Amino acid sequence: MTHANWAGNHRYRADRLHRPATLEQVQEIVSRAPQVRVLGSRHSFNAIADSGELLSLDALPADVIVDRAAATVSFGAALRYGELAAVLDAEGLALHNLASLPHISVAGAVATATHGSGDANGNLATAVAGLEIVTSSGEVVRASRGDADFNGLVVGLGALGAVTRVTLDVEPAYEVRQRVFEGVGWEALFDHLDEIMASGYSVSVFSLWGETSHQVWVKSRYADPVRPDLFGARAATTDLHPITGHDPVNCTQQLGVPGPWSDRLPHFRMGFTPSSGDELQSEYLVPRAHAVAAIGAVRGLADAVRPLLQVTEIRTVAADRLWMSPQYGRDTVGIHFTWKREQDAVERVLVDVEAALEPFGARPHWGKLFLAGAEAIGPLYERLPDFARLAGRLDPRGAFRNPWLIERVVGS
Ligand SMILES: Cc1cc2nc3c(=O)[nH]c(=O)nc-3n(C[C@H](O)[C@H](O)[C@H](O)COP(=O)(O)OP(=O)(O)OC[C@H]3O[C@@H](n4cnc5c(N)ncnc54)[C@H](O)[C@@H]3O)c2cc1C
Repeated sequence: MTHANWAGNHRYRADRLHRPATLEQVQEIVSRAPQVRVLGSRHSFNAIADSGELLSLDALPADVIVDRAAATVSFGAALRYGELAAVLDAEGLALHNLASLPHISVAGAVATATHGSGDANGNLATAVAGLEIVTSSGEVVRASRGDADFNGLVVGLGALGAVTRVTLDVEPAYEVRQRVFEGVGWEALFDHLDEIMASGYSVSVFSLWGETSHQVWVKSRYADPVRPDLFGARAATTDLHPITGHDPVNCTQQLGVPGPWSDRLPHFRMGFTPSSGDELQSEYLVPRAHAVAAIGAVRGLADAVRPLLQVTEIRTVAADRLWMSPQYGRDTVGIHFTWKREQDAVERVLVDVEAALEPFGARPHWGKLFLAGAEAIGPLYERLPDFARLAGRLDPRGAFRNPWLIERVVGS
């Protein structure tokens, strides 16, 4: 197969890409394939999605159904957040949060516990109220929040079956305005991190590990008060891109102009290249209680990190109960790196980054580049034995078990 992931740093080794158009075809393909995985929108930076055969579900009908009484929306799993948001906007509805880009598929994002920011916002998987999954026997399993093992099914790492439909919680549409503050000093950041991260509904600190923290993006719900300054830093008066030298036309509108949730919560606009487009990414999720110490530890590596870095982003994510979520049982701070596309050099610096963050129990983002193997990851996830049992029950023949899962998560 000639397909590569979005970043171009992984070429899928699968020799077949199926495009089923009905649930019955998914059942037939999955039950016959010796080794299989579903491919989402290919935005992960590692081999998590690879297998002997792959399925794209984008030919399944999206069939978006809003249930106002239940405050949910359900739809075909290949739908991208940007496409879903267009339907929800028209219905006057919203999701609780979005990632930095609307281009990713909902099922792929949920499978890796993709997140946005906000002290009170769980990752995107926490909005999942129900799933429809085709297991490796071809059986269709439907599960809802509250069912036994549901908290194990949601962040499934693609390892439990083909998710064909997703149901998400919705809420009434809301407006957001975002402002960007430049040059917040490190002292202010370290002394007032909690206050800065609480200064909006969703806050991102961008850093180049230089003299100051670079940019702080504050996204506020329209009715919430906004601050005129952030510890001496004034709000920018022109739109900015978080990566130096890139055109802000790719970014959602700033300068405090109110707009729909779907057009402010992501940093990047649908239809435009997100981020730099020529990059690799890594991210480590650290318990919130260690945020300042962990950020300080990475700052100690600034000289090694900076030559390979396009930008770092620091975000907060609320705790949840999803077994394989990096936020399981703990509020977290995410320390993210957008790297230049120099994988060997990046992997060499990740040795130091992972060693610096190891004392804090850092959990790597499942969809990004990391070095840790199953022996290091296992102890970080207390529900991993339950997850392995669930995978064994739903997929006894191991059709969805790929080399990445064995090497990085469950071990041999
Ligand atoms: C430019 C860029 C910006 C990003 N920004 C963020 C961010 O703000 N926050 C963040 O947390 N992450 C971010 N990411 C990471 C991204 O959200 C994750 O890698 C996510 O998994 C991508 O979703 P996908 O649909 O592309 O999944 P893929 O990479 O295609 O697949 C990921 C996993 O999901 C599984 N999967 C996909 N669909 C299904 C299905 N229907 N059934 C079963 N399993 C399935 C695959 O088998 C695989 O295991 C970013 C990535 C890029 C490239």
